Amino acid sequence: MSITVVGTMAFDAIETPFGKTDKIIGGSATYAAYAASNFVQPIQQISIVGYDFPQEELQAMQSRGIVTDGVVIVPDKKSFFWSGKYHLDMNTRDTLITDLNVLADFNPNVPESYQGSEFLMLGNLVPAIQKKVIQQFNKRPKLIVLDTMNFWIETAFNDLKEVLTMVDVLMVNDSEARQISGEHSLVKAAKKILNMGPQFLIVKKGEHGALLFNESNVFFAPALPLEDVFDPTGAGDTFAGGFIGHLAKTQDISFSNMKTAIIIGSAMASFCVEKFGTERLKEVSKKDIDTRVQEFVQLVNFDITLV
Ligand code: AMP
Repeated sequence: MSITVVGTMAFDAIETPFGKTDKIIGGSATYAAYAASNFVQPIQQISIVGYDFPQEELQAMQSRGIVTDGVVIVPDKKSFFWSGKYHLDMNTRDTLITDLNVLADFNPNVPESYQGSEFLMLGNLVPAIQKKVIQQFNKRPKLIVLDTMNFWIETAFNDLKEVLTMVDVLMVNDSEARQISGEHSLVKAAKKILNMGPQFLIVKKGEHGALLFNESNVFFAPALPLEDVFDPTGAGDTFAGGFIGHLAKTQDISFSNMKTAIIIGSAMASFCVEKFGTERLKEVSKKDIDTRVQEFVQLVNFDITLV
């Protein structure tokens, strides 16, 4: 069972109240692929990098079952670069720099070997490119999940609306859900967004967990209260990777299995934030993941007797 992941592979420079990094490896597809590879392999990666992207990083990914045949390496351009600064609450951040570099002329080509993929994770990327990837599959994947962000909502909203009509699950944070729908209430926002195309909507609320909506149901998953959140970058993409990884592993795309999948996604995200960049994600074992999922179960498990 394979998952195709599309998105950025990038350099990030991050500043949090607790520290600062120079350029480190990031990108939506990097985080999503690392997270998903814990559940299913191969992960078929589609992205673009420049001459400056380290070969060792591609090898590290390959050693985790991430196939990079669909990763274009441009010999005379730099990789996508993003820089952000987190506020004290760590839930909000300002983008300081977005240098598209190689991304500006990315024209993805789905390799023949990726055809037949049943699960497609469209990580945060130019909406027109997300659409191009969907159109290149000879057979529509069984489940298409799409992530996006304020940058694309502001600069490519028409393209985004078009791609929304082609996907099954939209995954955004609360401010993005409000921005897309023009509604403050997340319940009203969900109704509007579900009318725009996707059958399911996931609203991520950082340390306040995540909501899953379909036409008639809503489910809430908490985030694990952690003593130290070091760097939230990539938490959303890691969540996405865990979510789709679980669905692909179990081959079940029902609402009730998506409830489990958002707990798994939340557990993966809770690892991601414990260190800068992808560092923590690269160390976690199956046992660590199982233990953490159990902590989630305990967190929301209670008995109640109505009197
Ligand atoms: P997240 O914290 O999950 O929203 O994802 C952060 C990752 O998204 C970083 O590693 C960035 O490299 C990447 N990123 C930031 N801005 C963009 C953008 N406009 N398009 C695609 N990826 C981006």
